[in-house]
Amino acid sequence: MAEKNAPLKDDGIKRKIRDFVARATAVGLHTSISDIANRVGKEVGVLDEKWVKYTTIEFHNGLNREFYKVVPKKDRVVFIPHCLRNIKECKMPIDEDGYHCLKCDKCVICDIVKECDKNNMKYFIVGGGSQVINIVNKYKPKAVLGIACFNELQMAMEKLGGGSRFPGQGVMLKKDGCVNTQVDIDEIREKINM
Ligand code: SF4
Repeated sequence: MAEKNAPLKDDGIKRKIRDFVARATAVGLHTSISDIANRVGKEVGVLDEKWVKYTTIEFHNGLNREFYKVVPKKDRVVFIPHCLRNIKECKMPIDEDGYHCLKCDKCVICDIVKECDKNNMKYFIVGGGSQVINIVNKYKPKAVLGIACFNELQMAMEKLGGGSRFPGQGVMLKKDGCVNTQVDIDEIREKINM
């Protein structure tokens, strides 16, 4: 049996945060998302900045979820950051629409694009926020799933809005940086399959 006061592992913390977010968004927000994110951190017992950021993104996801779910998958796009690629082995070409994965199975991007293909969802492998905005203006999707570090996700939320007009979901990288970043593929699959 697990110790009562044993520290929560990442999956347990995520579950607690998601439960809290689901309850809070169901009754409506009466304060700022960052204030609530800090409160959740205290309640869940993790004041780590990483979890405050995760909570902030989850609140955005919670507020957009129902709007996002009603958009047909063919009208959504997925933005994948190129920093997830296997920098040593990757030979994917690039053009104005970003990188084009060769599906060589040497990094997680292969799993993400295969999941998109299976669900008939368009995807773009991009280098940053300005490329995202250009692609949104060019292809005019009706909803977006963004995979990125916290700063890029927050910038995209500010620039693209959200809500019923242009709903979005975000998955925050679990290890960020410029190269060989990491992400939880289960979180991505869950949001692709919503
Ligand atoms: S699976 Fe795609 S992104 Fe990953 S290393 Fe191969 S070509 Fe590059």
